[in-house]
Amino acid sequence: MAEEESKLAQRDRALEEIAARVGVRAERGKRFAELTSLRVGGAIDWVISPETEAQAAAIVYELEQAGIGWRPLGSGSNVLADDADHHYVVLSLSNMKGEVRIDDELVSVSAGYSLPRLCIDVARAGLSGIEGLGGIPGTVGGALWMNAGAYDHEIGTVTETVRVARDGKVVEIPGSSIQWNYRHTSFKEGELLLGATLRLKHDEPESIKARMDDAKGRRLATQPHGARSAGCFFKNPPAGTVGTGKIIDEMGMKGERRGSAIVSPVHANFIVTEGENARAEDALALAEEIRERVKREQGIELEYEVELWRATSEPQMNTDDTDQRREEQP
Ligand SMILES: Cc1cc2nc3c(=O)[nH]c(=O)nc-3n(C[C@H](O)[C@H](O)[C@H](O)COP(=O)(O)OP(=O)(O)OC[C@H]3O[C@@H](n4cnc5c(N)ncnc54)[C@H](O)[C@@H]3O)c2cc1C
Repeated sequence: MAEEESKLAQRDRALEEIAARVGVRAERGKRFAELTSLRVGGAIDWVISPETEAQAAAIVYELEQAGIGWRPLGSGSNVLADDADHHYVVLSLSNMKGEVRIDDELVSVSAGYSLPRLCIDVARAGLSGIEGLGGIPGTVGGALWMNAGAYDHEIGTVTETVRVARDGKVVEIPGSSIQWNYRHTSFKEGELLLGATLRLKHDEPESIKARMDDAKGRRLATQPHGARSAGCFFKNPPAGTVGTGKIIDEMGMKGERRGSAIVSPVHANFIVTEGENARAEDALALAEEIRERVKREQGIELEYEVELWRATSEPQMNTDDTDQRREEQP
């Protein structure tokens, strides 16, 4: 115990020194409940918030050199972190906004930039290709990591290059070197995404806006809004079968509650939380119950779309090819 405390104290000193040297804000006392859209989750040892791509690349290099585990977080709109204390560093990227640079049909943006904001910016500039993504909350980095998509658009299909952090530097890699799958990419644990260049297509701003409004309208009609959720909790089963929301709905689970977590009465694949002291364990218990019933009654093994961050499994510090975050999904 004393040895563990002394190790943590040593890590804290190293971390403060690194943050000061790179010139980034390092804070203690934050909780996942403040940083995620489900508004649940326990204390985080340190939150570091770089503001530029160069700072972010430098900081993760220094952390890795010092053997300090870290994990990147955008807007936290696809993460369910458990209630215990998380003894690692969260690299919060939502302040790394930069500026959107448009060069003909190429759009360069930093990972911390808001995806909905970007969709509006490019629509105004008469650039089409991501208007279906306008209603997806979160940052560009989170969207790239998950290959976020909706209404026939996925971010991966328009990604020309991605900027990543390698050995303390900003390095550009072709989008074609990444596998962009359904809510999953081939980016590896330890890969920090700093920004991207998207290739869009000229079109009339009014037509783009009309398509974006249509996608937003369909979303408003079918999904809860203003509720604390992480979007769809589970992936849809492979093509050709019924969507997960319909499966859960047909089992009569809309409105089902476990403590502070409820299956949304609007969309059965959304778990929403309520109350000041909502608990991740309630959301997880409800999610597991859904999985068990779907398995028992339909023979379908639902896969989590939301990422489960366990306090007990610290992030890895190297960039070997174990994809730990995926393995954490039960
Ligand atoms: C109401 C609602 C509706 C939603 N609808 C959709 C939808 O239609 N389609 C869809 O695809 N998603 C949807 N989502 C889920 C979520 O919005 C997307 O997955 C979004 O792209 C996540 O972005 P984020 O910045 O919040 O990522 P976070 O939740 O912060 O992180 C998600 C993952 O990305 C990683 N990550 C984040 N930034 C970086 C980075 N810079 N480098 C490396 N890794 C990084 C994190 O470590 C984590 O593993 C919805 C969520 C909500 C709340």
